[in-house]
Amino acid sequence: EAISPAELQPILDDIAHDMASATDRGEPAIYIPELGSVDPGQFGIALCLPGGETLQAGDATTPFSIQSISKVFTLAIALGRLGDSLWARVGREPSGLAFNSIVALEHNNGIPRNPFVNPGAIAVTDAILHGLQPRDVLAELLQFLRTAAEDDDIHIDKDVALSELAHAHRNIAMAEFMASHGNLQNPTALTIGTYCHQCAVDMTCVQLARAGRFLAGFANAPRLVSPSRVRRINALMLTCGHYDASGDFAYQVGLPGKSGVGGGILSIAPTRASIAVWSPGLNAQGNSKLGALAMERLAEATGWSVFG
Ligand code: GLN
Repeated sequence: EAISPAELQPILDDIAHDMASATDRGEPAIYIPELGSVDPGQFGIALCLPGGETLQAGDATTPFSIQSISKVFTLAIALGRLGDSLWARVGREPSGLAFNSIVALEHNNGIPRNPFVNPGAIAVTDAILHGLQPRDVLAELLQFLRTAAEDDDIHIDKDVALSELAHAHRNIAMAEFMASHGNLQNPTALTIGTYCHQCAVDMTCVQLARAGRFLAGFANAPRLVSPSRVRRINALMLTCGHYDASGDFAYQVGLPGKSGVGGGILSIAPTRASIAVWSPGLNAQGNSKLGALAMERLAEATGWSVFG
């Protein structure tokens, strides 16, 4: 039997209470200077249920940089636009490597391991940019997010985008390497500029949980992607959504999830809940330290693991 909102609220309150006083919080990402100055003392959690309820606790209405969580939404857009031909340019295997690792590219002839590591997401962005201007792609992404969340107050933080762009040497290197293998269709500067702006979308936990409802397969969620694609995006989130900690997230939480270096995690309990957590401090793999811990607590309290 489904857990009621009345039973869930105290669980969220407990988690938020404990996370607020946690001392070992990890460090915010500093390689994007604009993110390094975010107060690590914050924690928020929000979740949406199939009945239409949204529950929240902690700093759930504070906007944060979604960063790599954007990769889920650009993948959905790319699959809608290009269909399975996208898979000629990017694989579907976990990398077992850091999000910004270059080495796998050389082993795979410039084909990134999956759409959720940086080079994979750069290839996806490059694919949807083809024939368009960066501003068109970013407008399409914002429209997708606003429709998914049913909330028009979702924007790009220009300062974060420019801060990342000024330090994008590694992502540029990966894009150039892909170009050397014929796996880039646009000038590197355009693709990377678009990519840095997509990562700089600001959302709150409430907005992100609402935007994830289509992935949870709720009947009343905006229908943006076919059910078979939803299933596959969830499969990729489970196997690749946390980089070299994807196995650990599957083991500890048992739900598809996607993290970002802004400290957010979007996690999906298929048919049951769309969940967003946020805390800026990261662990060694670049995933939110308290966010992952909170997801563990929630999965244990609810029994929502996809593994039963
Ligand atoms: N914009 C970030 C980068 O490319 C995204 C990384 C992340 O969130 N893991 O480095």
